[in-house]
Amino acid sequence: MSFNIAIDGPAGAGKSTIAKLAAKELGFIYVDTGAMYRTIALGLLRKHTDCEDEGQLGQALEEIQVEMAYEAGAQQMLLNGENVTGLIRTEEVSRMASISSAKPAVREKLLLMQRSLAASRDVIMDGRDIGTRILPQAQLKIYLTASTRARAERRYLELRQKGEACSLEEIEKDMKERDYRDMHRETAPLKQARDAVLVDTSHMTIQEVVERIVALARERQ
Ligand code: C5P
Repeated sequence: MSFNIAIDGPAGAGKSTIAKLAAKELGFIYVDTGAMYRTIALGLLRKHTDCEDEGQLGQALEEIQVEMAYEAGAQQMLLNGENVTGLIRTEEVSRMASISSAKPAVREKLLLMQRSLAASRDVIMDGRDIGTRILPQAQLKIYLTASTRARAERRYLELRQKGEACSLEEIEKDMKERDYRDMHRETAPLKQARDAVLVDTSHMTIQEVVERIVALARERQ
């Protein structure tokens, strides 16, 4: 049987950085489900889809094909065959991903893909509803969080390093809006699974968090 680790939490808590490092240490595959929602969001933006129009959304989703591949161990996202991995980290895509991921049709489209990835392999999968909905049987569930300020500052530095112009205040405001939407939507809202271990990363180094998760995984393996 495969060993599954589910990591959920709000944007900027460090999920992907930490999950990637922990996966490497454990020899697991890292699956970033946010990237899947972002790929759909990019497809919807390109089509100028109004997500509030169910018919339009359904039609667009039929025409959007999402695939995943690994290149030298790194997850690549394909949108209708085009590698869009480098195009899905903008604030515009972040906002659209948060809006469109609240739609049940969007979530349905990705559900099977996510479950089947974890069925046959040892994975660390991160997202918002992995422990609560996608992999409720995961052997280890982590709820990773940090203060809004700490999370906004991390995103700010990340964008600045990439040379993108941005303001800390705006990022924090966007993040609060996204958190609110992710936590209050009807379908698969972000919340801590009852059996998840809460890890607040506000005052922890990346290495400390990775060690904590690896230790918990080894205890349960
Ligand atoms: O994790 P990341 O910030 O890349 O995710 C982008 C957006 O996709 C989130 O704000 C959230 O709305 C959505 N998402 C989700 N369920 C997941 C992963 C991401 O709803 N499992």
